[in-house]
Amino acid sequence: MSNPMAGMPKESEAFRREMLRHLKDKYGKSKPAVVQEAAEIIAKFREEKAHARKAIARLGSRLPEPDSCPECYYLRGRYSLLRPIPSESDRVDSFRCGVCDFLQTRTRNRLQATPGEKRIRS
Ligand SMILES: [Zn+2]
Repeated sequence: MSNPMAGMPKESEAFRREMLRHLKDKYGKSKPAVVQEAAEIIAKFREEKAHARKAIARLGSRLPEPDSCPECYYLRGRYSLLRPIPSESDRVDSFRCGVCDFLQTRTRNRLQATPGEKRIRS
């Protein structure tokens, strides 16, 4: 009897074959969908974390110029300037980024009010 399986109880042989088939089915082929999905989620998280690390470093300091677009600079590391656009109110000045369309309104400084805005009560 040269066969090592010879003499093995029939039940044990059935168990062996069943476990072999089960493990080959589960791990012998490509990754299951759920494992593939988890790998993609982890890769995406790592990418976002690397991106956030750079943004955090930029957020630790002020804008390179007072009129730099904060969204472009802090979130994307790009330099662009906010340009004045017509304002709907005479109490604020409006600015827009030509790259990302970020809109900023700034309360007008009363000390800079033009003479025409001063009214003298009689
Ligand atoms: Zn921008």
